[in-house]
Amino acid sequence: MPTEPTTRRRVAFVFPIYNEEANIDLLHRTVDEVTAPLAGRYDFSFLYVDDGSRDASLERLTELSARDARVTVVELSRNFGHQMAVTAGLDLVDADAVVIMDSDLQDPPRVALELLEKWEEGYDVVYAQRRSRRDPPFKRYTASAFYWFLRKMAAVDIPKNTGDFRLIDRKVVDELRKYRERDRFLRGLVSYVGFRQTAVLFDRDKRHAGVTGYPLTKMLRFAADGILGFSTTPLRMITRMGYLISLLSFLGVLYVVGVKVFAPETAVPGWAFITIAMFFLGGIQIIMLGVLGSYIGRTYSQVQNRPLYTVASVRTGAADRSAVR
Ligand code: UDP
Ligand code: MG
Repeated sequence: MPTEPTTRRRVAFVFPIYNEEANIDLLHRTVDEVTAPLAGRYDFSFLYVDDGSRDASLERLTELSARDARVTVVELSRNFGHQMAVTAGLDLVDADAVVIMDSDLQDPPRVALELLEKWEEGYDVVYAQRRSRRDPPFKRYTASAFYWFLRKMAAVDIPKNTGDFRLIDRKVVDELRKYRERDRFLRGLVSYVGFRQTAVLFDRDKRHAGVTGYPLTKMLRFAADGILGFSTTPLRMITRMGYLISLLSFLGVLYVVGVKVFAPETAVPGWAFITIAMFFLGGIQIIMLGVLGSYIGRTYSQVQNRPLYTVASVRTGAADRSAVR
C-alpha cells in the first residue's frame, strides 16, 4: 500500500475584498471546485481580507466562514487599498505556499492549478501573466503604457502584463514581510526579492459583477508607486536636464558675445551682461537641483529601509564546521 505523506503541504489563497458582495459566493464555489481534486495532496485554506467594504461583503464572508472551516476572514478597520489588503493577508497567512488572487473572477481560479504545478517543479514565485485581457480599451491602453514606462525606468525587471495574481512560496512570503515601506507596489517587491521565478500564461476574464475598485485616480497613484518606488530616475533626469540647459546657455553666451563684438550697434547697453548672467545662473541652478536630487534619492532608498540582500541558501561541506552562525 502506498504510504500517505504524513504532512500535506499547506496552500493558502489570499483574496482582497472590496465591495464584492455579488462575487464572493461564486468565487468560493469555483475555487472550492477547482481545488477539490487536489484536496488529498494539499491542505487548502482561504484567507479573505475585507478591505473596508461598504456593501454586504463582510456578511457574505461571515456566512462563508460559518459554512466552511477552511475559511478565515480578516476585517480591516477601513479601506486601506488593494495593496495593503494583500499585505495584511501575507502578514497573517500561515502556509507553505500562498496564492494571491483578485476576487472578481478576473483571475480564473483554475489557473491556480497550473501555478501549483510550477511550484512542484521547484519554482518559488509563479506569476500568472496575461496573454490577453478583456478590459475596456482605455484600461488596456493605459495599462500597457504604464508597463512600458515602468520597464524603462525601474531598477528591477518587473514582468509586463502581470497583476498580483501569483503563487509565492513560504520563504518568499517571509522575505516580503521584511519590506515595510508604506507606498507599496507588491509585484515590484516580489520581483525585487528574487528567488526562482517563472510565468504561466493565461487569458484574463471580465469582472464577474460589481465595479472596479481602481478608478483613474487610484490607478495613477498606483502607477506612481510603481515608478517612484523602484527608481530614482526622475531625480537623475534633473541633472541631465541641468547639463543640457548649461550647454544651451553656453551657446547663448557665444551668441551674445558674437553680437557684442561683431554687431555692437544692435546691442543695448548692459544687454550682454544681463543675458549672460541669466543663462549662467539658470544652468547652475538646475545642476544644483540635480545635486540635491541625488542626495534625496539616496536618502529615499535609505528611508525605504529595505533588507540589503536576501540569502537563498547556504551550502557547506561539513555540517559541524559551518562558517555561518
Ligand atoms: N480591492 C481592494 N481594495 C481596494 C480596491 C480593490 O481590496 O481598495 C480588491 C478588489 O476587491 C479585487 C482586487 O482588489 O479583489 C482588484 O480590484 P479590481 O478588480 O477593482 O481592480 P481592476 O481589476 O479593475 O484593476
Ligand atoms: Mg478586477
